[in-house]
Amino acid sequence: MKKVVVYPGTFDPLTNGHLEIIKRASKIFDEVIVLVAKRDEKNTLFSLEERVDIVKRCVSDITNVKVDKLEKLLVDYLREHKINLVLRGLRSYKDFEYEREMFEANTIMLKGIETIFIIAAPHTAFISSSLIKEIAFNGGDVSQFVPKEVQKRLSEKLRR
Ligand code: ADP
Repeated sequence: MKKVVVYPGTFDPLTNGHLEIIKRASKIFDEVIVLVAKRDEKNTLFSLEERVDIVKRCVSDITNVKVDKLEKLLVDYLREHKINLVLRGLRSYKDFEYEREMFEANTIMLKGIETIFIIAAPHTAFISSSLIKEIAFNGGDVSQFVPKEVQKRLSEKLRR
């Protein structure tokens, strides 16, 4: 049976940290679905459509990676698509505490889910979408931390 894993997140915007996890996962699983979660647009820099479009462009060269929107509870998406594997990245103990709670809640809501964690690579572990936005908003150079596409989209946003 095909091993399909979903990688849910906000990806506001996608960073090299996310991309690192996606690439490593694409070598382990038959298919990786990056699930871009809907959020209150007042709280995100990029709209859901923009975030999906950015991820699609940045993973287009990895054949077994797909991108989809998550506009409901993760457990409902998993149930509907008959998927039981969830992937998350771990940067630090702070991520771990939050992830443990999510894992427990999800497992209670839908039996049989497995969450697989990939530990961040040392050279990208410190990268977060909020750090990227902070640097970009203050005129800093984010080119080492995000794909070119994201760099372009951030400067377009900031010009407005
Ligand atoms: P969420 O709002 O769900 O935390 P994020 O887009 O911030 O969405 O993160 C999505 C996933 O990617 C989470 O599992 C997060 O821990 C992981 N992640 C974020 N940044 C990195 C990074 N630099 N290295 C590895 N994993 C990361």
